[in-house]
Amino acid sequence: MKTQELLEILACPRCLGPLEIMGDAESPSGFLCPACAAVYPVRDGIPVMLVEEAVPREQWTEGGRD
Ligand SMILES: [Zn+2]
Repeated sequence: MKTQELLEILACPRCLGPLEIMGDAESPSGFLCPACAAVYPVRDGIPVMLVEEAVPREQWTEGGRD
């Protein structure tokens, strides 16, 4: 599935707001919710849309957690 298609389907599980791509548009490393300042990581190509798995934006580094 293309990232743009994913973006249209996915929403922040906390505020249900729209998400932005983090990293490469073809293979994003995560999806950012600007409203929550939270990044939902992509693991093995699968977005992990769980509030408890979200990484605070300021702690996010490309490729995942520290
Ligand atoms: Zn949100």
